[in-house]
Amino acid sequence: MDAEFDIGIIGGGPAGSTAASYLAKAGLKVAVFEADNFPREHVGESLVPATTPVLLDIGAMDKVEAAGFPKKYGAAWTSAEDRAIDHNGFRGLEHDFRAAEVLFSERDQAGVDRDYTFHVDRAKFDQILLKHAEELGAKVFQGVHVGKVDFDGEHPVIEARIGRSRAHVAVRMVVDASGRRTHLGSQLKFKVPDPVFNQYAVHTWFDHLDRKALAVNKDQADYIFIHFLPVSDTWVWQIPITDTITSIGVVSQKARFKEYDGDREKYFWDTVASRPELLDVLKNADRVKPFKTEGDYSYGMKQVAGDRFVLIGDAARFVDPIFSSGVSVALNSARIACKDIIAAAEAGDFGKERFAAYEEKLRRGVKNWYEFISIYYRLNILFTAFVQDDRYRLDVLKLLQGDVYDDEEPKALAAMREIVKAVEEDPTHLWHPFLGRLKAPSAAPSF
Ligand SMILES: Cc1cc2nc3c(=O)[nH]c(=O)nc-3n(C[C@H](O)[C@H](O)[C@H](O)COP(=O)(O)OP(=O)(O)OC[C@H]3O[C@@H](n4cnc5c(N)ncnc54)[C@H](O)[C@@H]3O)c2cc1C
Repeated sequence: MDAEFDIGIIGGGPAGSTAASYLAKAGLKVAVFEADNFPREHVGESLVPATTPVLLDIGAMDKVEAAGFPKKYGAAWTSAEDRAIDHNGFRGLEHDFRAAEVLFSERDQAGVDRDYTFHVDRAKFDQILLKHAEELGAKVFQGVHVGKVDFDGEHPVIEARIGRSRAHVAVRMVVDASGRRTHLGSQLKFKVPDPVFNQYAVHTWFDHLDRKALAVNKDQADYIFIHFLPVSDTWVWQIPITDTITSIGVVSQKARFKEYDGDREKYFWDTVASRPELLDVLKNADRVKPFKTEGDYSYGMKQVAGDRFVLIGDAARFVDPIFSSGVSVALNSARIACKDIIAAAEAGDFGKERFAAYEEKLRRGVKNWYEFISIYYRLNILFTAFVQDDRYRLDVLKLLQGDVYDDEEPKALAAMREIVKAVEEDPTHLWHPFLGRLKAPSAAPSF
């Protein structure tokens, strides 16, 4: 069967549509197969600045700006507990553990030409990106579910399902951007669940929520807020969606959710009630969407590339969303992979070794995120201290900006790792009681 397209992309979320844009711009014949019909809702509404260079690169930034999404200048964390305890030695203890915040403009970032990013209604954002890819020449098939991909012949053959009909489309190479459905990773048995993180989220939107209520600095109402709850490994996101609508999500260990026997509403309210001031804010707002749950996250893949295929975005790897990294990983993995794919197409060789640079960069970036997140869950008081410590602030901000692909390990990570170890090994350490229950390995698993 002759190849009908150079590249067949499974999934039209941010990873798939960004890849389609890069590849179509490079003159390749691209098809995107998207199971849903857009617009469709999606979790993951707060971006980080590392998305900016990619949106500029593919020429979609003007459209994203024109959509009028709330601008995100920074991030803030609040906590109920007064953790200003005394300790001899580490300066972090002079800090106020009840609140911390960062402003993206504090640190210059290559390729980022503005001091904000966006909070987005993903139904609108994803549609903008998919349409953009189409305008650049990608052929987009919506409502088309990809079944098995057959790699046995000369070209990969994608089974495309529309209702009960089946079509078979030969392509020179496949890009899997199917998100947490991990289409190829599951078919090829590459998927490995994360050994530590098994979080669960329940989320919804509220109208007329007072975003300033828990903010220490009232000018920061349009930041993303992460509210720590006095329940182990549990936090709440507060993300502006429009002038009046706010997305709220509760994240906790799956085991806790199971105790509620599927009652997501009770779980949500019971969990939030552990911080009465947050409960008050939510009770005074109007919920405008049903509660939705998200499970099954945090996994890796034994391989993210092979002969005639590459996995990008959530289809390649998923780490806990605490630092809003997902869409940025989707866009940047597409950016980095497309460089290799375009070179492979020019060489007429789509062998696995062509994607080695992509695999290395992706693993490096995700390793940094992973370790940062692990330390955060293990001892989040440390994170608040580092954000407020001049020696580490910009280093932590670099991670929060999503600027993780090009350098070696940030120095704050090494310092944090040492402190966590010291606290773990000393039961009399004043921070010992604050250790979280999730004990991640000191480095990301090798998959
Ligand atoms: C609780 C939670 C909170 C999060 N919060 C944030 C946040 O604040 N900020 C952030 O940046 N990220 C966040 N994320 C992560 C974010 O949602 C993802 O990283 C992002 O959506 C990944 O984009 P993607 O294109 O890889 O996958 P997706 O956006 O999931 O897109 C995949 C697409 O593939 C399609 N598809 C799947 N299978 C097939 C098939 N067989 N055939 C055809 N089409 C198929 C799907 O319909 C879908 O449209 C969060 C995630 C979770 C779980």
